[in-house]
Amino acid sequence: MKTPDALLLDFDQTLYSSHLPTLKAVDDRINLYIHQFLGLQWDASDALRTRAYKEFGTTLEGLRQWYGISPDHFFDFIQDVPIEYLPLPHPGLRKWLATQTLPLFVFTNARRDWVERCMEHMGLAQELSLFFDIIDITKTAFQGKPQVESYQVAQKIVGQALHLENPQLCLIDDHEPNIQMAHKLGWYTVWIDKHKQDKESLNQISIDHLSPISTSGQTLYSSSCEELCRWVPHWNTVD
Ligand SMILES: [Mg+2]
Repeated sequence: MKTPDALLLDFDQTLYSSHLPTLKAVDDRINLYIHQFLGLQWDASDALRTRAYKEFGTTLEGLRQWYGISPDHFFDFIQDVPIEYLPLPHPGLRKWLATQTLPLFVFTNARRDWVERCMEHMGLAQELSLFFDIIDITKTAFQGKPQVESYQVAQKIVGQALHLENPQLCLIDDHEPNIQMAHKLGWYTVWIDKHKQDKESLNQISIDHLSPISTSGQTLYSSSCEELCRWVPHWNTVD
């Protein structure tokens, strides 16, 4: 089993817990955007957002195709979330980021300024320098995960950054379709499944769960970075 050449980390609900109100606040902004700029009622706005997300993987792509909206106009509005909803500081994540031996990249469907603002609020502004790059939605020409173009661009960016022709990548992400596409492309994957958090006791996770991470499609039974820190620490323990 080849050790991955780089870890690509999703940002939202991967580097912070899904129990925080952050993404719900973004969703509310999206609903408000649809309500204000596309003229739908509130309930219809929420339904449209959900339908676009399910159909295209990102709400943005749905609204682009159906309404021809401007991505930057959209992001300027939806990322304008009040500070009290931003992710909270997490010292464990700082330590985890600092001790990783593989090159780290953020691979996100958000825009870079969102990641920077959140990281700063999490007390991790300095840690931004630990990432080789933030592969955000602008770098992938607004083609977000799970669209295959997004992964192809990411692969190219990492290859150029690391001077490797065909790097073996590992994606850590909470959204199952994103994981499925990565798996299809031959990437290693770690799926952080928020839905299983309440069904599985974290105490039942053993070291055996670490090993299959390298074989793709495995699940960490939590959406929080606490568990990420616990279960993806050392690739040299993977066979
Ligand atoms: Mg996510």
